[in-house]
Amino acid sequence: MTLSRADCLVIGGGPAGATAARQLALQGLDVVVLEKDRHPRFHVGESFLPRSLAQLRELGLEDRLERLPRVQKLGAEFLEGHAGSEPSRIWFRDALGGGEPEAFNIARAPFDAMLLDAAREAGATVREDTPVREILELADGAVRVATADGEVAARYLLDASGQGTILGRHLGTRRVLPALKKVAYFGHFRGVGRAEDETGGFISLVLCREGWFWLIPLDEETTSIGLVLHHGDARQLPVPASQILGWAVRRCPVMAERCADAVFPESNGVTADFSYTCAPYAGPGYFLLGDAATFLDPIFSTGVCLGMMGAVEAAEHVAALVRGTGADAAARQQDYSRFVERSSRPFFRLVEGFYQQSFRELLLSESGPLEVHRALVAVLAGHVFPRPAFALRWRLRLFELFVRLQKRFELAPHREPFSLFDEAASADSAAA
Ligand SMILES: Cc1cc2nc3c(=O)[nH]c(=O)nc-3n(C[C@H](O)[C@H](O)[C@H](O)COP(=O)(O)OP(=O)(O)OC[C@H]3O[C@@H](n4cnc5c(N)ncnc54)[C@H](O)[C@@H]3O)c2cc1C
Repeated sequence: MTLSRADCLVIGGGPAGATAARQLALQGLDVVVLEKDRHPRFHVGESFLPRSLAQLRELGLEDRLERLPRVQKLGAEFLEGHAGSEPSRIWFRDALGGGEPEAFNIARAPFDAMLLDAAREAGATVREDTPVREILELADGAVRVATADGEVAARYLLDASGQGTILGRHLGTRRVLPALKKVAYFGHFRGVGRAEDETGGFISLVLCREGWFWLIPLDEETTSIGLVLHHGDARQLPVPASQILGWAVRRCPVMAERCADAVFPESNGVTADFSYTCAPYAGPGYFLLGDAATFLDPIFSTGVCLGMMGAVEAAEHVAALVRGTGADAAARQQDYSRFVERSSRPFFRLVEGFYQQSFRELLLSESGPLEVHRALVAVLAGHVFPRPAFALRWRLRLFELFVRLQKRFELAPHREPFSLFDEAASADSAAA
């Protein structure tokens, strides 16, 4: 039984799916969103980039954002986990080429619900509690999927199913990047210490040999804390998965100090955040959005920004295809794939670099010749669409060269990383 027939079918009502659905509906297209959960629902990923703030303005969503509790974020700080480490800071206002000087942190449940409501109000039909079970047909102009209630047909499919990667799995294109096999442990803490000046809203990234912690202030009381570990290290820990975050926080001197008066969650969430790609990102009958296209290690808070920017781009192509205007389907699919590829590539390169100590040493040094650091800040602020400007690209290459040189020479001070496994350096031993 076919339940409905639409111009466009979107799987998943997260930021990418909701944004695409709204853009399509605003253009008068008939759009159905199938979402397996019911919003608002918890989602990890609460730190946003300046480019996202600018995009929300461009989309006319600023007023809705203003109504949600959030924390202004002017930059990010990085520090080693050792006792007494001083943070190195980047300020978004220093980005080469300018751009929005600030971003924000926000709980994802209300943020994602806001976007999905906006799609609904623009005219999209949103069916929650409706997981897609199977792809039945996939061709330009004719797609069909199965749900528990029956089939839904449309002319184009936009897969925004997040890490569910429905289409990537269906097509067998999902490829995990072995160097970036990680596990993340996360939870909300209350009463974590933070600066009282304008750096109080910064995201803090506390580094250790086995990975890194994030601290994201969400409101006056709540801080989102997470730990991302290399897969191999995570398997060696002497505590159950649901207790690893508390164990690690107490063990790392910087984290233990910031959480000295905090209320810890009883247990932590766990997710394997293996990075992957499902390229090509579009093909006959489909476009892949957000995490359904590719997932990148969360270190630089890029997920929502990449997902929403790609969603707007895909919606433009799909709208033109449904109307039969402009380039043909294959050309548009290639164009879109290139957009995702080019905008995510600089982040993939930075993420791979980030797990090398020489990269971290340079990042922590806060400055460098030829405005290389300012170029890095511009990329970390999300100024990469549709691809980074030439002034950023060559500086990033230079930064990569510096990272290689740093292994042999001391361009920035060499640092011994903090290790969660190092008994002598742990907070437990400092307290004893
Ligand atoms: C540990 C960790 C930390 C992160 N931190 C950040 C951060 O600080 N900042 C940031 O920007 N990003 C962060 N991210 C990434 C970010 O959360 C994602 O990139 C972002 O949520 C992607 O949006 P999306 O719309 O593509 O997918 P999602 O937000 O995951 O939405 C996908 C939707 O699809 C639905 N769905 C799934 N399967 C089906 C199905 N079969 N049928 C129907 N619906 C389905 C889901 O219920 C979900 O609502 C982090 C990720 C991880 C793992």
